[in-house]
Amino acid sequence: MMKSVPTALVAALLLTACATGAPTHPPMVAAPAAPAPAPTAPAADDNLNAVTWAQHASEHDFLYLQTYRDAEEKLLKAMKDPSWDALPKDDRAAHPSLKGLKPAVVLDVDETVLDNSPYQARLIRSGTEFNEADWAAWCKEGIARPLPGAVEFTTFAADHGIAVIYISNRAKDLDDATLANLRSAGFPVSGKEAFLGLGTFVDGCEQAGSEKGCRRQLVAKNYRVLMQFGDQIGDFANVYGNTTDGRAKAMAPYTAWIGERWFVLPNPTYGAWEAAMFDNDYTLPREQRRQKKIDALKTN
Ligand SMILES: [Mg+2]
Repeated sequence: MMKSVPTALVAALLLTACATGAPTHPPMVAAPAAPAPAPTAPAADDNLNAVTWAQHASEHDFLYLQTYRDAEEKLLKAMKDPSWDALPKDDRAAHPSLKGLKPAVVLDVDETVLDNSPYQARLIRSGTEFNEADWAAWCKEGIARPLPGAVEFTTFAADHGIAVIYISNRAKDLDDATLANLRSAGFPVSGKEAFLGLGTFVDGCEQAGSEKGCRRQLVAKNYRVLMQFGDQIGDFANVYGNTTDGRAKAMAPYTAWIGERWFVLPNPTYGAWEAAMFDNDYTLPREQRRQKKIDALKTN
């Protein structure tokens, strides 16, 4: 049987407890901080890997170096062969005789000799896509760096009396900015005539869109072209119908020239190859363009 405890003793025990500071309620603890808002996940961007590769993979740089070094080794042999010409037959047709023509090399500019990956990187950071205004502003900054091997190759060509001609789809009003950028990056630029931008007038030739055929025909008049360089097949020949089949057809007659007269550089960040995946329709929302690329994946 439980022994009863006198009331006075209970009171005394309670007082003692209070006096010694024993807790009479749940201990006070700091209230947990409100959870920090979850960091905003960076928006997914279909170009992230490609641009990161272009900017950080040694393999990217070595592909450029390898291409330009290979071309340099072959350049003088091409110059010594008077029948050697690197223009596609359609563009040579109006001026078939090579006799007396000065030797030249023809190079595209963007992602062939100048690296515009910082512009692509800005688009990823801002979550935006290519637009003419931002592109023109970037070009006018004039800070695009040379791609590996390109300055050495073009300087070698110029030092051997070979004209260095740039055919670019940068708009004509970017001529001065582009020439200044090419010069500051170390490229040989003989004069304004060395740069044939989009919209260059070519007498008797109607340029279709951004096709470079008319400008190549202009070059054909005065030069024997030893080599062409580009990151798009349109830098080498006209592509009639930018579909996967159309692109293959345009290049089919010239595959033996790859690595001999035509030197193709890697561009996974943009280009007609991508547009061909969604019927060249950039008005489609990004999601639909992405879906078409997913649909086109080869899984076996
Ligand atoms: Mg290009």
